[in-house]
Amino acid sequence: MSGTSVLAGPAKLYIGGEWAEASGGERRDIVDPATGTKIADVPEGTTADADAAIAAAKAAFPEWSAKSGRERSRILNRVAQLMGERLEAFAQAETQDVGKPILFTRMIDIPTAIEQFEYFAALAQTLDGSVRETPLPALSLVRREPLGVVAAITPFNFPMILAASKLAPALAAGNTIVHKPAEDTPLSAFLLAEVLADAGVPSGVYNLVTGPGAELGDHIVAHPDVAAIAFTGSTTVGKRIASVAGASLKPAMTELGGNGANIVFADADLDAAVTTVINAFVYNTGQFCMSGTRLLVERPIHDTLVGILAGAVPHVPLGSPSDPGTVIGPLVSERQRTRVQRLVDQAVADGGTVVAGGAPLDLDGGYYYPPTIITGVPNDSEAVQEEIFGPVLTVQAFDTEAEAIELANSTRYGLAAGVQTADAAKALRVTKALKAGVQWVNGWAMLDPSVPFGGYKDSGLGRESGPEALLNYTRSKSVTISVPPAS
Ligand code: NAD
Repeated sequence: MSGTSVLAGPAKLYIGGEWAEASGGERRDIVDPATGTKIADVPEGTTADADAAIAAAKAAFPEWSAKSGRERSRILNRVAQLMGERLEAFAQAETQDVGKPILFTRMIDIPTAIEQFEYFAALAQTLDGSVRETPLPALSLVRREPLGVVAAITPFNFPMILAASKLAPALAAGNTIVHKPAEDTPLSAFLLAEVLADAGVPSGVYNLVTGPGAELGDHIVAHPDVAAIAFTGSTTVGKRIASVAGASLKPAMTELGGNGANIVFADADLDAAVTTVINAFVYNTGQFCMSGTRLLVERPIHDTLVGILAGAVPHVPLGSPSDPGTVIGPLVSERQRTRVQRLVDQAVADGGTVVAGGAPLDLDGGYYYPPTIITGVPNDSEAVQEEIFGPVLTVQAFDTEAEAIELANSTRYGLAAGVQTADAAKALRVTKALKAGVQWVNGWAMLDPSVPFGGYKDSGLGRESGPEALLNYTRSKSVTISVPPAS
């Protein structure tokens, strides 16, 4: 039996200010991960639709980029306000589509997306040129220009936060957008298109094309009228996008995978560390690029901490994401659940011991997987080295600060890391040595739109949030004006 979609009517592409069916007439079923049943269908866009969206964005660019920062700021603030007024519809869409607990879509996903629009609305007013004095008999004017049409390609796990963290700075800087959300979780993007239109974003400035990643994505990235790519997703796809974009020298900002190390020293506040460790690996059912999936524990507290964690995680409320008490919802798909189980099995085959969870849950036909803790996993196990993207924690003991740093830095990723300790000097030393772009001391995933966010190594290139993100969507142009000395 089919569930009910939160969308008011049939979803359509949004191109040049018009709602349209996909040119090929195809539609894709969207499934509720909590029940495995169809809740909606959406247009399966084609490369012809992508071409139309890019043409609309190109046509809208001169007018949008010519607006003052103040005008763009007003419109982005209105976007934030309208999202706030429709928060419940957005939250329900993310919950139905991704299986995220409604507790978090109401409290985190949609409010965070709104904050992105508010923050970059403010920064839109600060984007101006500067004048540099030089030793030359001349003054240099350094202008900041938007790039043009930006392709925003977003993943399944945080549809609105990751769309907003691209759209808000790109629009603030005067760019126009073609947005391609993940195939399986596009519902909230249709609501966003409505809000952008209602907020006064002119026709063609934002265009929405849903459809298959490989065909549409490759076509959009290679298109000569696309000036830049803002991508969040897997490392495999990110590298492909960077290479396609590199062939025509266009910037590609890539926010990619991660497998964060959470280092707990013996001097840490144990109660606080337990909460932090659990939140860091179960949040969003572990489908979180910043997941703290590798626990590194100083040996004297290893057994105590593992014992407390193994006793605690079965009590974290798991179940229907629409229940306001639920903390852990389902994984997004059966495919994802199969992958998680394969990596758990691999950890065990490599010598690990499962002390909590370890097998899928049969609940309501959904793709549920319980919080899983595996101790004694060797560092070269795929479960340690690769991104699991499920609620799975591998535990490794260390004896020295140097060993903790070496283990933390030993994978190909470098996005998030945490250090739990009562010793401030140690925290500063260790965070300096960690090769991860986003780190926390005595906490996890404390994020703000003003703080830059992004990875080292295979976790990607570029930064979202903060003034750094705004500058990503601009290029400088310098004009040096001769000022001959008085004769
Ligand atoms: P994915 O790479 O499969 O897909 C991401 C997007 O890329 C989707 O819209 C997809 O349709 C599109 N796509 C697929 N092939 C493409 C191609 N050849 N060209 C252009 N676009 C293409 O990722 P996913 O499974 O949706 O998301 C999970 C991944 O995203 C994880 O690896 C996670 O770590 C990462 N992620 C990173 C961050 C971060 O900020 N670093 C945040 C969230 C998620």
